[in-house]
Amino acid sequence: AERTQAEELPILPPEITRERFNEAVAELRKDIGEKNVELNDKPLIDGWYMEHPNTHDAFHIMEQDDTVSSATVYPGSTEEVQTVVRWANKYLIPIYPISMGRNLGYGGAAPRIRGAVVLDLGRRMDKVLKIDPDNCSCLVEPGVSYFALYEAVQATGYPLWIDTPDLGGGSVLGNAVDRGVGYTPYGDHFGCHCGMEVVLPTGEVVRTGMGALPGKNGEDNPCWQSFQYGYGPYSDGIFTQSNFGIVTKMGFWLMPATDHTSYMITFRDEDQYPEIMSTIRPLAINKVLGNVPQLRHVIQELAVTGKPKSYFYDGPGQIPREVIRKWAKEMPCGDCSWVFYGTVYGPDEFRRGQLEIIRREFGKIDGSRLMLPEELPEDHYLHSRVAVCSGVPVLRELDWLQWLPNGAHLFFAPIAPTSGEDVKRLFELCRKRHEEYGIDLFPTLCVASRESHVIVNLVYDRSSKESKAKAYNCLRAMIADAAAEGYGEYRTHILFSDQVAGTYNWNNNALMRMNEALKDALDPNGILAPGKNGIWPKRFRGKGWEI
Ligand code: ADP
Repeated sequence: AERTQAEELPILPPEITRERFNEAVAELRKDIGEKNVELNDKPLIDGWYMEHPNTHDAFHIMEQDDTVSSATVYPGSTEEVQTVVRWANKYLIPIYPISMGRNLGYGGAAPRIRGAVVLDLGRRMDKVLKIDPDNCSCLVEPGVSYFALYEAVQATGYPLWIDTPDLGGGSVLGNAVDRGVGYTPYGDHFGCHCGMEVVLPTGEVVRTGMGALPGKNGEDNPCWQSFQYGYGPYSDGIFTQSNFGIVTKMGFWLMPATDHTSYMITFRDEDQYPEIMSTIRPLAINKVLGNVPQLRHVIQELAVTGKPKSYFYDGPGQIPREVIRKWAKEMPCGDCSWVFYGTVYGPDEFRRGQLEIIRREFGKIDGSRLMLPEELPEDHYLHSRVAVCSGVPVLRELDWLQWLPNGAHLFFAPIAPTSGEDVKRLFELCRKRHEEYGIDLFPTLCVASRESHVIVNLVYDRSSKESKAKAYNCLRAMIADAAAEGYGEYRTHILFSDQVAGTYNWNNNALMRMNEALKDALDPNGILAPGKNGIWPKRFRGKGWEI
């Protein structure tokens, strides 16, 4: 909505007077230090990826200040996190924990509730606490980015890899609790974690897995980063994509370094992907494909050059297929429709064998062509895949944002069985909605053997209300269309979480009712990240917050 009147800053949390809020802030400043509590009362700056704001969503999809915080707090230890949590309970102020807040496309650092206090854990809690080169594991705090962990691992001199997502600036811990993925064989970040320390919404601290059993002489348990399950119910999962706790430490497994070869295969025809998918599935399940390979539409070969759309096409609406073809013809990928990026791992003879099978199987698809890095120019995207697929963090994927002026993006990320028919159904509904809203369709499939993360990147112009509204409405429509066909998202932007959570409604919303029971038991005052992942505490439930 248009704002006619300037609001007084900072925007307050719900149901609290300015006087009471000021009193609360003064108390918190006394408890954890004046400089560790910042009011959000200055103009909002979107910045850019490496200088991202922790005051709002840098990739705002509604008004810039629709998801703003009232203040940001920087705890320096688990004890200080407990202090802030107890403070939030006393004043009934919602707090929203972030590790680094580079969760762009999913809400960034923004709280779901306007005026909540953002708990920026990463600023001061940024230590790699331990690297165990023999156990091939590490223990990190929320502020450790992929770049930082990479450097710390390199500095040990041991041949170990980390696993990084497409962009290396995010938090290792934050990404894993949001169940993000990367591209080495350790690409399932939650699956490769081992042990957590969590501050519960009441202020209590727990350690999960073997961490619950104290080590000798007060040390950490020696198996905390070795055995994931410990004893009793496996609770780690409930602290991911939820609002049940604040993760202050997390263990991860590191992969022993190995030789690797990345390759790219191009496919000629747009409608060949069902055939491509049925070739991929057995190879993926049999682990001939060594990692999470990506299948991308050829339009992305244009976008990853970092040149704006206007360089390729300056007409209105979607860039026509013929124009994409014209440009692709002049690029290393040539006149193709799909590009597959994969990597094989292990000693020479392993990789040679795997590549032989890959060549043979994909070779059965008419017009396909396999290329190795040495056959491609130095600035080709495949070289960036070589880095990412061997755990070297990069920023190349940011080039995408140049597609439109003031570029921002939003993800549609449904899960599909790794089958041609299913992927076809999803692509068709995406195509229809993208045409309807005049948005360029950028589909990528991240294939994890039995399922594929279908990632559709909606790029929009942040300075244009119209561009934002189109992206917003297109995403809403696709979520509904997909659910009607039985497909659901693995992750979504904070403003779409009610809708997505609402699609996981089997047996009269039994899962959400269980989540609400857990929420009310663990967070009786409803202070921790209300509304995150569609989970609302009793205090907010059914009072008009859901969108
Ligand atoms: P990144 O900077 O790695 O992209 P964020 O810090 O933005 O990650 O976190 C991603 C999501 O996970 C956010 O929605 C945030 O609420 C949640 N989150 C991040 N860190 C924690 C944590 N330590 N405890 C609980 N939830 C967290």
